[in-house]
Amino acid sequence: MTIRLAIVGFGKIARDQHVPAIAATAGIELVAVASRNARLDGVANFATLDELLASDVAVDAVALCTPPQVRRGQAAAALAAGKHVLLEKPPGATVAELAPLVAAAEAADLTLFATWHSRFAAAVEPARAFLAGRTIRSVEIEWKEDVRVWHPGQGWIFEPGGLGVFDPGINALSILTRILPRPVFVTAATLAFPSNRAAPITADIDFSDSAGVPVRAAFDFLQTGPQTWDIRVDTDAGRLVLSSGGARLAIDGRPLAEGADAEYRGLYGRFVDLVATAESDVDLVPLQLVADAFLLGRRTTVEAFED
Ligand code: NAP
Repeated sequence: MTIRLAIVGFGKIARDQHVPAIAATAGIELVAVASRNARLDGVANFATLDELLASDVAVDAVALCTPPQVRRGQAAAALAAGKHVLLEKPPGATVAELAPLVAAAEAADLTLFATWHSRFAAAVEPARAFLAGRTIRSVEIEWKEDVRVWHPGQGWIFEPGGLGVFDPGINALSILTRILPRPVFVTAATLAFPSNRAAPITADIDFSDSAGVPVRAAFDFLQTGPQTWDIRVDTDAGRLVLSSGGARLAIDGRPLAEGADAEYRGLYGRFVDLVATAESDVDLVPLQLVADAFLLGRRTTVEAFED
């Protein structure tokens, strides 16, 4: 069976990644778009998810590419209408809102897939394999990008629930929590909020694990020039560097793995497999760590941010 999919929220990530990845994935086809201000030629177009669900266009699944603040309501409506649901990251604006969705999917025999696209980067699984069984001494994360380049005009990102710099930073945490052998927890954080915004623009977070391994993360939304999406892990078998957002892996400077960007193709392949057996995949640990950084973090106010 080919899954008939609708994209809801046709913005940057839907255009840049979802459309080409769906076209390149067997077993799924894009049949509709629901977006208030955008449309796509060649498919059925609706202004809202509710209009789509009320129509006679046959859809098996929806990919929710809207901002996190509105995703819970859309996911609940789609599940109630009998649709499988793929959630862009982060899976929601709060942690607790996911449990009722997981329960609804299970009760209706539907798939709920909370995606973490960075986990599908080429060098993430090789990094996990390398770290399994090693003694880890310390971890440093540097995730620094220019918000004006990557999120132009996306006002929602600095609204409550938009996560600010944690919007990209949670990608690093999704990789971290995949490659480390033990769970980590937040021990301290400093979050800098622009005086005119409701979400942080930089964040420094300390984590640890049950063995006391120090993990330090620096997230920065104001990086101009070269962009940095790196994780460095010091181990008893050398220094692992996972760079370019998880695309490249080196140990003590020697390249070990590298691959072209195929994150969203991997993600849709996984969705097709999950739907085939009506299984869900919802890992909330990266979102929980962000929530904990907000709980424990010291807040500072910095100069206003203008787009
Ligand atoms: P975006 O360009 O702002 O697109 C989101 C779309 O959702 C908008 O174009 C808008 O379309 C719709 N939308 C916005 N507010 C809405 C509301 N209140 N109610 C209903 N629909 C609304 O954002 P994006 O970059 O694509 O990001 C969307 C999600 O993907 C975020 O969670 C983000 O973290 C994730 N993501 C983004 C990137 C990236 O590089 N940009 C990468 C990976 C994941 P209409 O106005 O037409 O309705």
